[in-house]
Amino acid sequence: LTQHHEAVASDRRRPADDDPQGVRSVGVIGGGTAGFMAALALKAKRPWLDVTLVQSKEIPIIGVGEATVTYMVMFLHHYLGIDANELYRKVMPTWKLGIKFDWGPADDEPFMATFDWHHHSIGGLGALDATGSVNGFTLQSLMMMADRSAVYEVDGRPVSLMKYLPFAYHLDNGRFVGYLTELAEQRGIKHVEARLADVVLSGEEWVDHLTTTDGRELEFDFYVDCTGFRSMLLGKTLGTPFHSYSDTLFTNSAVTGNMPHDGVLKPYTSATTMQAGWTWNIPTPESDHIGYVYSTDHLSDEQAADEVQERFPTVDGLRQVRFRSGRHDKAWRGNVYAIGNSYAFVEPLESTGLLMSALSIQAMVATLPTSWSETPARDVVNLGLGQRWDAIRWFLGIHYKFNTKLDTPFWKDVQERCDVSGFKPLLDLYANGAPLTRRDPFLLDLALGAAPTFFGLAGIDNLLLGQKVPATLLERTETNDDWWQRRKAADALVAKAMTQADALKAFAEHPELNKQLLEDFDSWAGRHIAPYIGMN
Ligand code: FAD
Repeated sequence: LTQHHEAVASDRRRPADDDPQGVRSVGVIGGGTAGFMAALALKAKRPWLDVTLVQSKEIPIIGVGEATVTYMVMFLHHYLGIDANELYRKVMPTWKLGIKFDWGPADDEPFMATFDWHHHSIGGLGALDATGSVNGFTLQSLMMMADRSAVYEVDGRPVSLMKYLPFAYHLDNGRFVGYLTELAEQRGIKHVEARLADVVLSGEEWVDHLTTTDGRELEFDFYVDCTGFRSMLLGKTLGTPFHSYSDTLFTNSAVTGNMPHDGVLKPYTSATTMQAGWTWNIPTPESDHIGYVYSTDHLSDEQAADEVQERFPTVDGLRQVRFRSGRHDKAWRGNVYAIGNSYAFVEPLESTGLLMSALSIQAMVATLPTSWSETPARDVVNLGLGQRWDAIRWFLGIHYKFNTKLDTPFWKDVQERCDVSGFKPLLDLYANGAPLTRRDPFLLDLALGAAPTFFGLAGIDNLLLGQKVPATLLERTETNDDWWQRRKAADALVAKAMTQADALKAFAEHPELNKQLLEDFDSWAGRHIAPYIGMN
């Protein structure tokens, strides 16, 4: 997809004035994160487009979706052109260095799934050999364990190592959507408050216009369906088949709430095994946001709420959310392109919702035809997005299949029945020589084809080794003493790092720290990297 993007990026023409099939107006239906990010991207990359966002306040947004992955830092700042210091002021994100999984064998301590796994900065095999755990395999995992962020005070001023340690944002959903709404207005995106009544077709896959419940008709050249799980255009009107992931992902509900954190901002998302699923904990400046993701086949809503209350006694404001995991057969049909939950959804164990919306948006912007007289790249987009969603399905599957923390009916059922067949080749490879990332590069290239997820083979290693899934470990060339020396050096570096609360304060007071992160040539999030991932 990114290659395709590069190919068309240099050719972003406006439609000719006299082209009757020119694509000039786009209607984005839905005002959740998917709708606003899509509208902002279209306006940022094709400023001449007439973009209208249609939204009904009667139908609330999903209102959850707050942990992200590192890709979103690049997407928000380099693709959507969001000013970092303004985002910090208005949305108040916190940082996520990874996920702390209370997962795996019954008596094991939680393990860290970091964003810097592939650096092996301290040594994964060493950590396993010397401590029996993947914890402490990279600098970021040590930062997570010590609740620290890589910002230091040196000679009275803050010095940041964040540009060398990929991190993501936790974004309070309400504040984030509120800020995107403000930006959309500033950037000339039209806003229509209306509830969609009907979608009127003029061909099998062609939307002619929309009608609203207050009697208006809305007509656009291109329709972006961001109506969430209702999937008003792609699903309901066009009847696009839905491929369920329920053989792999058994959960279908969440009960969410907030919990005081007394000012301690953990620099990670937590995922804790529960009776019939798991609970996330996402820190925001005011409180920890938590959510128990469970399966109603194994637990009633009341039992889920009781379990949360028992496990987290200070939790407040519980509310229920239903979902289904799976994807539609295609994201793009005719002049309808679906983004966000209206196209596909997987439960939030690896925080992939916003990431996948971002990828869909990039694919749409890259391939949106100037005129319907061109042949659009629908097939390649549908194939590419479908493959990526399916890979996430299998990736989440290996979290479930191998988690032996509890032996409740839910977990027994999952261990027995969870379908991870799409990852079988990789699981075989892993069993015969782990970590995968230390195998022959040519083999790795082939293996990557079986796992086109954002997390790559490093993420798979992290999960499988973290859960202690049996494997023949590759040979080490150093002694445990050597490993411990490096670990001690890293511990010393961590001990002097700031807490996240202090580090965020330093970023707020010193805008140059964000500038280093987003501009410096040696930063993982530097502007010069954006074109390589289709963000020019
Ligand atoms: P929504 O937010 O549901 O928005 C739909 C919009 O469509 C609304 O504005 C609504 O008014 C409008 N609409 C619908 N029907 C009509 C109509 N008839 N007329 C007019 N307007 C209409 N993602 C992450 O990245 N990280 C996470 O940690 C994460 N956690 C999640 C936890 C849970 C339990 C769930 C369910 C999701 C989570 N997600 C997460 C996913 C994420 O929340 C969504 O993918 C993302 O917010 C996109 O939502 P959306 O915009 O597609 O839909």
